[in-house]
Amino acid sequence: MNHFSYRNGRLHAEDVGLSDVAASVGTPFYCYSAATLERHYRVFAGALPEGSLVAFSVKANGNLAVLRTLGNLGAGADVVSGGELKKALAAGIPGGKIVFSGVGKTTAEMTAALAAGIYQFNLESEAELLALDAAARSLGQRAPIAFRINPDVDARTHAKISTGHAETKFGIPWSRVREAYGLAATLKNVEIVGVDVHIGSQITSLEPFEEAFQRLADFVGVLRRDGHAIARIDLGGGLGVPYHIDNTPPPDPAVYGAMAAKLTKGLNARLILEPGRFIAANAGVLVARVIYVKKGERKQFLILDAGMNDLVRPALYDAHHDIVPVEEAGPHALRARYDVVGPICETSDIFAADRDMARLKDGDLVAILTAGAYGAVMSSAYNARPPAPEILVKGAQWAVVRPRMDDDALLATDRIPNWLAV
Ligand SMILES: *Cc1c(COP(=O)(O)O)cnc(C)c1O
Repeated sequence: MNHFSYRNGRLHAEDVGLSDVAASVGTPFYCYSAATLERHYRVFAGALPEGSLVAFSVKANGNLAVLRTLGNLGAGADVVSGGELKKALAAGIPGGKIVFSGVGKTTAEMTAALAAGIYQFNLESEAELLALDAAARSLGQRAPIAFRINPDVDARTHAKISTGHAETKFGIPWSRVREAYGLAATLKNVEIVGVDVHIGSQITSLEPFEEAFQRLADFVGVLRRDGHAIARIDLGGGLGVPYHIDNTPPPDPAVYGAMAAKLTKGLNARLILEPGRFIAANAGVLVARVIYVKKGERKQFLILDAGMNDLVRPALYDAHHDIVPVEEAGPHALRARYDVVGPICETSDIFAADRDMARLKDGDLVAILTAGAYGAVMSSAYNARPPAPEILVKGAQWAVVRPRMDDDALLATDRIPNWLAV
């Protein structure tokens, strides 16, 4: 459920007309709905046992205004870099609600996280463990740790976002987990607090989760018998969202939460979850203008002013996004088949192929839906195109939460060395 809907024939984000925003800030732009973010957070958190930590995955949407909106509801953060750590802290999320994930944390990043009083490091290798122990020693601290265990399950999602099988770079292989915990227990500057798993993203059936959570829960017993104090179970993120409006819905968060609670019941541990996409994806759209409708030899193209530099998911993951006109098409509107593309000089710069849509003309506005997660965060300035700005709506209010970078600002990021000076 989201708060984007037609009113009087125009697509709105809550009470704000997207064509009004377009008239004011130009196109393309991302638009997020605060009510949708809040609703998704509440539904997700409400499905979990009392006292669980919902650590929003900052890599899905790291805008400070989005993080502040979620932080105000009590969300923590899951960060995967020193930059994301800074963002979460700047948004007002305290270190005590932040977990640090990722395969390659540097000593500098670990030191910054320790200084911030981080809640937990999710370690992915013995090498990281030794580096963290050394970083904590130089600060005179003990770092709270869990190991991310690679449960070797098939998440049944796109290969590029599948992280929980033995062939990926993620986590500690099953066969070495007890040894890794054993090594950690010998180190003075780390404190074992939990276990962690994250098997992938956009997972739309519960079975892979169930399989991974069950294995992890069983393993808590093994680790406790080995003498380790496992007080927290981090189940990662990955719950999928519907990208096709009229497709079969992905798992209900209530059922997912109840399953997580059931499998960990009796273990007397605090649950941590790291949702990203589930909270943010349907809370955002990318609004673009049709520059030209172009007739090719065999196809018609809608050439938008947004490109793969703004939203790379279709090019990178073959992802589907529904695309709708901002001016509502009536029931009798003529239809056409389009390849919806951007202006970038790459064949992969395509948002939809052979899409049956209401007929559009030059200058019309469209909204690419479900773009609030892994959208703006993955944007680039490829083709010297400043990435799209970001707008946050709350009721009838809206604000630019990341302005459009102008061409001169983009130019100013480069330097010409002395030997080329004229
Ligand atoms: C990406 C990521 C998440 C969030 O995944 P979603 O599919 O967006 O919920 C959570 N935890 C870790 C470790 C991640 O890398």
